[in-house]
Formats: sequence, C-alpha cells, structure tokens
Amino acid sequence: MRQELFDLIMVPLMTFFFAALQKGRPQRRYRLWLAGWLLELTSMAIWEWEQISHISTPVIETVRIWAIVFAGIAFLLSFGQKDLTFRQLCSFGLALSVPACLGILLINNGTARKWMIVVLIVGGEVLADWSLRRSYGLQSKVRLLVLDILAVVSGAVMLRLVATNQMEVIYAVILAEIFTACGLMFLTLPSRNLAGQWIASQGFFFWALQYPLYWWMGDRPGWESSFILSANEAALRVYGYGMEEFLGLSVPEIFPPEDAAARAEMLRYERRFERYQTLTRRKDGSSFHAEMTMYPVTFQGQWARFLLVVDTTEHVELNRELVRQAQHDHLTGLPNRTLLEDRMSQWLAIAQRSDKPAALMTLDLDRFKHINDTYGHLVGDECLKQAAARMQSRIRQSDTLARTGGEEFTLIVNHISSEDGARSLAESLLRLFDRPLHINGLIIPITISIGVAIYPADAHDLDTLRQLSDDALYQAKRTGRNRVVFAGHMPATDVRQLTSD
Ligand code: GH3
Ligand code: MG
Ligand code: MG
Repeated sequence: MRQELFDLIMVPLMTFFFAALQKGRPQRRYRLWLAGWLLELTSMAIWEWEQISHISTPVIETVRIWAIVFAGIAFLLSFGQKDLTFRQLCSFGLALSVPACLGILLINNGTARKWMIVVLIVGGEVLADWSLRRSYGLQSKVRLLVLDILAVVSGAVMLRLVATNQMEVIYAVILAEIFTACGLMFLTLPSRNLAGQWIASQGFFFWALQYPLYWWMGDRPGWESSFILSANEAALRVYGYGMEEFLGLSVPEIFPPEDAAARAEMLRYERRFERYQTLTRRKDGSSFHAEMTMYPVTFQGQWARFLLVVDTTEHVELNRELVRQAQHDHLTGLPNRTLLEDRMSQWLAIAQRSDKPAALMTLDLDRFKHINDTYGHLVGDECLKQAAARMQSRIRQSDTLARTGGEEFTLIVNHISSEDGARSLAESLLRLFDRPLHINGLIIPITISIGVAIYPADAHDLDTLRQLSDDALYQAKRTGRNRVVFAGHMPATDVRQLTSD
C-alpha cells in the first residue's frame, strides 16, 4: 500500500517536473512527448486505483491499456516531419490507434471472434505502416525498412497467438511493437547527439520489453493451481462442502473429470469476462448443469476470478423434454417423422461411406380398422403401443424405427450383409406377431405387412427408395397381407401399374 501511494505521488511529480522543464519550448515534438507522459500517467493512476480499490473490470482494464497505446502513439508521431498539419497528425493518430484499441476492447470484453481479430491485425499493420510512412516522409529508407520489418514480425506473432487461442496476450505484443518502434525511430532520428539518442532509445526498448516479460513472468496463471479463495453459504450448500474444505479446493475439482481439461482453456486467462453453460461437480461426485459467469476481479491485491454459478438443471431438463417431445410420437414413444427425416440422411450417408447395402422398410398393421371397429379406439391405441414395443425390441440400437402414420411405421437399417440379411430381419419382424396381443384380458391376433427397398440395388436416392418401399408394401397388401415384399422382386408389370396408380 505504501509502495502504491509512493508511485501515485512520484509519477505525477516527475511528469510535472518534465512539463516544467519543457515549458516555453514551442516545438510540436515536446508537446507530443508531454501528451505521451500524461497518458502514461493516466494508465498508471488507473492501475494504482485498481490495486487500492480491488476493483478491476474488463472496461477499466481496456481503458488502462488504451491510455498506454495512445501514449506510445504520441511518442511515435513526435518523431515525424515537423511541417505536418494538425489534421494530418490527428488522422495518422487515429489510423494508428483505432484497429489496436478496437481489438483490445473486443478481446477484453470477450466478444472477439478469430476472424475479426485477424482482420484488425492485418488491417492495423497496413494502416500503421501507411500512416508512419506519410508522417515520416521519405527521409530515410532505413527507417522505413525497419518499420516494415517490425510490422511484419509483430503481425506474424499476433496471428500466431490467434491461431493458438492466446488472443489475451495480443495487447502485450501491440504495446511491445509501439514502444520498439519508438526506440527505433528515436535511434534513427537525424541529429548530432548520437550518444544521447542511444541511451534514450534503450529506455524505449526496455519499456517495450516489459509487456511480454511481465506477461511471461507473472501474468500467466496455471489453471491447475488455481484455488477457491472465498465462497458464500449458498455455494457451500449446493456443492456440499464445509467452508474449510471448500477454500483451498483447486478449481478443476468442481468440474467432472472429463470436462476439466476443456474448462482449462477458459480458466486460463483471468482477465476475461466469460459466460458459459457447463456441468459442475459436487463433493459427492454428482454433477449438475450450471451457467457460470466469470468476472475478472482483484482479490487481496491479486488478479482473481469471480464465478457466479446458477443451477440450470431444471431449465436444461425442460429444454431436453421439449426437444424430445418435438421429435417423438406421444403414443408409442418412437421417433416421429421429423426425427426420422434427420436420421434418414445420416443413414444414407453411412451407407454410401461404408459401401454396404442398407434397407428401408415400410411396415403397416393389417386390417387395423377392423380392430378399432371391434374393440374400440382405446384398445386400438394399446395395440399400437404393444406392437411398436415388440418391433422396437427386435431391432439394433443403431437402427431407427419411427411411427410415420396412424398404424404405419418406417424402419431404416444400416450395415446389412446382403439382401438376405434384410429378408431374415423382415421375416423375424413378421414372426413377432405369431403370438397375439393381450390387452385388458382380450386376446387380439394381429399381423403386419412389410415393403422393403434396398440401397444401392434398388435406388440411390431417398425419395425413390421411399417410393419403392411404399409400392412394395402396397403389393404385399394386394397379395394377401402378413408378408414381406422386396421392391426389387416385384414383377415389372406391377411396378408399372403401381407407378401409374
Ligand atoms: P390395411 O391392411 O389395408 O392396412 O387395412 P387397415 O384397416 O389397417 O387400413 P387403413 O389405412 O385404411 O386404416 C388404418 C386405420 O388405423 C384407420 C384408423 O382408424 C386407424 N388408426 C390410425 N391411427 C390410429 C391411432 O392413433 N389409434 C387408433 N386406435 N387407431 C388409429
Ligand atoms: Mg393398415
Ligand atoms: Mg395404413
């Protein structure tokens, strides 16, 4: 605390001492230097305030870094041509600062997408190079070459950080680039005091170095060693820990083991605002759905994360139930037409990839109207449920049986060895109804008819396969019911007749 107060007093004192020294010097260069120092002072004041008040938000952090960016740019412009107009200076200043500031803002508030940052990096470097060329004029080829090299190297480093998901570190590269440029431009300034220039530019180089160094040394928390520092009663109750146990728990311990690694990336950078849906683990090993909102804060002088955990189990389960209802038939619980459509495209894609035949079957209960008429609709419903359950018990998990009409079902089967495989499956489905159904003490015999189309023997596309299996089913009904008909085995005359029907 005493150190912070000392900084807070010393920095303005030095700045005003510098300002007093330069007072009366009319040149623009010194005014820009003074502006640079004032901006640097602003950023230090924000930093000290963050330390003292223990309040740090992405917005405050962004403003603090912006102040350093503007400071660096003020220094950088001070090395330019003396006869630039005020308007020119402002437009170069904007061209240099806007992409960097925008990028830092997007990254800090967590809304950055990779492509946006790539655009800002490339655009920012091109704009920076252009505006520095204009503001320095063509005095020295060496200066321009040095700037080009710096732009290419820094741009490449930043793009690499984007590629490796380390966008949070880009601010350090931007600041290092700006102050390295200041050092290089000061060093190559046409003047007679080479020794002085050499010493002052060292200052800029060390200034530039501190940002990556600072990040590398201290500002890179290992998520594995992050611990819970404080928690409220509600958190203890929900997670099932006592206060002493909970404090000192390492952060990955509140995630299911299989998720902990994925969360690592998110928890790695403490300065990011983040909100995500996740599973979180209680003391007894059980998990619940939660929405976690993570704010960067300072806690006892250290960067820390404030985690707001909201139990969303009910919400997630309600959502899941709504999706299930939208995709399933309420009477039999089987997938409905909507889900089948989705599964069918996967089914065809798998068949095409695996180079094995696949079967599409349309199944229909025989003379079902008669059952309804005889026993009533409620018994009819129960028949449908039992028939569906019987068929479902016969098929593999990877196959899909859907209810696609009143008493019509569709079955899609992958990886069959040959047409014989499909035939034995279809016949075993018919035999499922050798035993009658038992409903409310009634014994109800039922039979089914099945039409089968085979990919790729019968057709290659879904619509034709669907049409062919319907035709085959129609043929099964016409020729006596309780049987299987393969589309490929229908007499040609029947196919022609069916198609014209
Ligand atoms: P076919 O052998 O030619 O298929 O004869 P069918 O009587 O089964 O044929 P059709 O398609 O003409 O009749 C289907 C009947 O299924 C009509 C309808 O009363 C009955 N049905 C459709 N959906 C339901 C349902 O959800 N519950 C009940 N109980 N009956 C249904
Ligand atoms: Mg029927
Ligand atoms: Mg029918």
